[in-house]
Amino acid sequence: MHVPGKIAVVGGGPAGAFVAAQLARSGREVLLFDEKLAWEKPCGGGLTDKAIARWPFLREAAAERNWISHCELIAPSGRGVSFQLDRQIAIFSRKVLNGLLLERACQAGAQFCHARVTGIDRTAEGWALCTSSETHSADFVVLATGARNSFREKFSTPQGPENFTIAVGYYIPGSHQTVQIKFLKELYGYIWVFPRADHFSVGICGRMQGMNTAGLRRVLDDSLPEFGLSLEGARFYAHIIPSLTVKALGRPISGNGWAMIGDAAGFVDAITGEGIYYSLRSAELLANAIEQDAPEKYSAFVQEDFLPELEHASRIAGRFYGGKWMGRPVVERMLQLTVRSKSFRELMRDLFAGTQEYSDLRERVQRSLPRIGAEAVVSMFWEPSRTLFPLRSRE
Ligand SMILES: Cc1cc2nc3c(=O)[nH]c(=O)nc-3n(C[C@H](O)[C@H](O)[C@H](O)COP(=O)(O)OP(=O)(O)OC[C@H]3O[C@@H](n4cnc5c(N)ncnc54)[C@H](O)[C@@H]3O)c2cc1C
Repeated sequence: MHVPGKIAVVGGGPAGAFVAAQLARSGREVLLFDEKLAWEKPCGGGLTDKAIARWPFLREAAAERNWISHCELIAPSGRGVSFQLDRQIAIFSRKVLNGLLLERACQAGAQFCHARVTGIDRTAEGWALCTSSETHSADFVVLATGARNSFREKFSTPQGPENFTIAVGYYIPGSHQTVQIKFLKELYGYIWVFPRADHFSVGICGRMQGMNTAGLRRVLDDSLPEFGLSLEGARFYAHIIPSLTVKALGRPISGNGWAMIGDAAGFVDAITGEGIYYSLRSAELLANAIEQDAPEKYSAFVQEDFLPELEHASRIAGRFYGGKWMGRPVVERMLQLTVRSKSFRELMRDLFAGTQEYSDLRERVQRSLPRIGAEAVVSMFWEPSRTLFPLRSRE
């Protein structure tokens, strides 16, 4: 494959800004395009410990975020469980996070172009990238354009609606120190309340039989009072989240002179919607491959690194939201065991930290089942009052 000289990165979200920073730092000529600069991209903004531990600058940077060490999970019945996390989650405003990452890219020497790329065409020498006012040339193109990747069909195969979920939400003034997640009957997704430094990102994502964006919004509006929230001062947002089938995850993410990273490649956990970690990690893996003058290795790096985990999530997402476990809906059973068993709570903490992979989740549960069962029985006899709390009356 041609060794890239000048690299054009289209999209300055987490994926694009991160790859631009690493490549510029290693001496490459990088042109980074974003149409919006740092912006409040619709998002929860939650970063697990897995991300924070891998990239310490996320902890160390002087940027505003909220550190969360408490979590509430609420079942469709309205009853919930509340527990401490042993590793904190950081909740960023996306404007702050994107700003931090773009600044790193510019400080590393990437040239920033505040413009929308409207066309990408092959030339005899490489690529021509058009904006409304200029044409730029490049040897290699990185597509980091997010979930609404308008160049996907040009570079890879189109993706049908089964590969996306809808997300709608609000930024609401206020804050506290607890992440709240509520599951709903027949929703293949959840409602989240993510408290940031000075506001909440509150939203609903997923698929619901016969439900469109307006319907999901109504469900969210109706649920806000349960969390003690109202629409006063709220700002609405809507977006899509990649939720790729296993087949779609197998489609090409790179080719001669180009590669896709982050949401543009569909790298999001189909169960949780977590995508920031995979944006940064895919950016890092692509930069590693280019630094070795072997961009063709990128696909293999992804395959060796996180792709099996995303495939696993995609395979089990339906069962997680719609299946049964020991005679009850998976989510209800999961919450019940979180209340009753210390070992199961530890497992949940590891899931929230991002350190428990889906690939060995089943094995861990099976291995720990005798202990989880014993703890649950003891808890029922010795701590009969320790049950799921009713959400509306927890105060
Ligand atoms: C409602 C919602 C909640 C979420 N919550 C979480 C969460 O809590 N934690 C988590 O880990 N993930 C979450 N995600 C997923 C997360 O937001 C994405 O995975 C992440 O933003 C992907 O980063 P990216 O850089 O690939 O794409 P994006 O962040 O979408 O960035 C793409 C960038 O490309 C630019 N762009 C696009 N086209 C062009 C063009 N033609 N020319 C120039 N610029 C262009 C855009 O302006 C944008 O800045 C959530 C997603 C949604 C929708």
